[in-house]
Amino acid sequence: MTDRVVLRRCVAGALETNTWVVRAPDSRDALLVDPGDDPERLAAEVQDLRIQGIVLTHAHWDHVLALPLLAELVDAPVLAHPAATEVWAHELEQARKQGHWDAGTATGELLPTGLLDLDPGRRLWDGRIDGELADGQELVVGGLVVRVVHTPGHTPDGVTLAMPGHLLTGDTLFPGGPGLTGWPLSDFDTIMTSVEHLLTAYDVAVGIHPGHGDSTTVGAEAPSLQAWRARGW
Ligand SMILES: [Zn+2]
Ligand SMILES: [Zn+2]
Repeated sequence: MTDRVVLRRCVAGALETNTWVVRAPDSRDALLVDPGDDPERLAAEVQDLRIQGIVLTHAHWDHVLALPLLAELVDAPVLAHPAATEVWAHELEQARKQGHWDAGTATGELLPTGLLDLDPGRRLWDGRIDGELADGQELVVGGLVVRVVHTPGHTPDGVTLAMPGHLLTGDTLFPGGPGLTGWPLSDFDTIMTSVEHLLTAYDVAVGIHPGHGDSTTVGAEAPSLQAWRARGW
């Protein structure tokens, strides 16, 4: 087992989702987290590695659009919390009803760009999970232990991946606060319970790597917990 981690970040899709590739330094075995878009490009970026699993931090469209093609290209199972099936079904239903993908508070700004358009030629994920993730479960990849932490609130299926020195938080925790809870199936009190756990259970030096944008640390964010609760978002 190793306490060293190599993280690779690829940015893909309309909402510039961070796709994370996680491995031990001396192994080609890796996990790919949140396949946002561009399946061919993502597959090319990991062609030097053996992808053991494609992990979803949650099943919002901007984290899964590269499925199912990417899963075929890298020949890896899709691993997610069982509630991902419900979240994805809701995403599809809303998109088909509205005629475009939802981008939360950014929807109005992004709609005219065409970035939220449904591409009728695109094969979409069928919501099938090859391996269900549970809180406390450990994924071992090339000697690296990656622990699953159920962190609902942004969505019911939200998971954070914890490994030595690093947390991949999906849309649960960003620099400056929790992820959005204005989406359907979201809940502010629930996400704050998840965020408080992450900011109190891990060392201040641990890195926080979210589903969009820049990384931060536990120590940089923990002092703001009460302020976030007070402002209510
Ligand atoms: Zn999300
Ligand atoms: Zn997102």
